[in-house]
Amino acid sequence: MSVLLPGTVVNGQPVTLGVMGGGQLGRMFVHAAQAMGYFTAVLDPDPASPAGLVSHHHIQTDYLDEQGLAQLMQRCTAITTEFENVPAPALLTLGAHRFVAPGADAVAIAQDRSAEKAHFVKCGVPVAPHAVIDTEAQLKAVPDDLLPGILKTARMGYDGKGQVRVKTHEELAQAWDALKRVPCGLEKMLPLKDECSVIVARGGDGQCVHFPVQRNLHRDGILAVTEVYEGAVPVDLAQQAVAAATAIAEGLQYVGVLCVEFFVLESGQLVVNEMAPRPHNSGHYTLDACDQSQFDLQVRTLAGLPLTQPRQHSAAIMLNVLGDVWGPQGESPAWDRVLALPGTHLHLYGKLSARKGRKMGHLNITAATPQAAREVALQACAILGIELF
Ligand code: ADP
Ligand code: MG
Repeated sequence: MSVLLPGTVVNGQPVTLGVMGGGQLGRMFVHAAQAMGYFTAVLDPDPASPAGLVSHHHIQTDYLDEQGLAQLMQRCTAITTEFENVPAPALLTLGAHRFVAPGADAVAIAQDRSAEKAHFVKCGVPVAPHAVIDTEAQLKAVPDDLLPGILKTARMGYDGKGQVRVKTHEELAQAWDALKRVPCGLEKMLPLKDECSVIVARGGDGQCVHFPVQRNLHRDGILAVTEVYEGAVPVDLAQQAVAAATAIAEGLQYVGVLCVEFFVLESGQLVVNEMAPRPHNSGHYTLDACDQSQFDLQVRTLAGLPLTQPRQHSAAIMLNVLGDVWGPQGESPAWDRVLALPGTHLHLYGKLSARKGRKMGHLNITAATPQAAREVALQACAILGIELF
């Protein structure tokens, strides 16, 4: 692919980068692209989408709308995606005429838990014992030792949605009914000591760089806290995670930013959970704690610019801010008190109505030492009414 130098004009138009999807990840991509001098275009049907609100151009159509896709292509030289459930035909249409990264085939694999697991296995990375459940016969054939387990829809799951925990074959059958018998996978429930993730970026020339491995705490299936500093993840596990994520990206001939999530079992073994073909919530600390953010690298991979290994310069803790911490009448949290704490960086996504479980923003805390970051994080939690960790 050719290099799209920022701040240039091609065929009478400023070089414009496009993104499918207008959520918070798209918004932070737009911020990074604009900071470098690119123009941006977002395709998202929602007139109030977080990314649409800040982009030079916002095309408000459905993802499969031919005119919308045509407008996006007319505006943009290269196009990325901010959520993995962009319909595959839309990416194929765009990919036929424009540089699209990540490509439709990589996104298609990430959209389907079964295909994703098959890819991990092909790359020689351990996965949880599991069975594909697309048919009644497959349901009946599930071996006892996969129970207790978690039944997960193969497609469209996120933040713990589309998942049911089951203990017996009977519960499993009921759960599959409740999920309307869509294609699913059953995963054995594993004893988790910890969860971690790593973000890698791979350029069109095959060069791969990565961020430090982050430790993640989930609550109710939603990421709550990410901690990244020396000692947050044991060095040997971090090395394994980076090697696995790099192999997964190589195996896909991936171009773009990829996040791979892992379980750390009580035995100490590292098992891959899932991947996201885009920047990830667990990588938001990179905005304030690293010399380049995951969104900067998304811009670079899309524009064909060189990648350099990012460097973390501060211990970091990220707290997700959900709608739960707004008052019953929509009263805003006491941000003034939170921002009085040293090293706090507030990122709100421009969502005007707070709902329980809705990701409204995140708070990054940076400090010279892990202890100092933790102290501030606990104070911020107390002010916000977020459970301590
Ligand atoms: P999502 O796409 O919603 O993020 P995940 O598959 O990552 O779905 O599951 C959400 C969370 O549920 C995980 O982060 C983990 O805490 C828990 N979980 C998922 N699968 C397992 C498993 N096989 N064993 C134990 N815990 C699991
Ligand atoms: Mg997950």
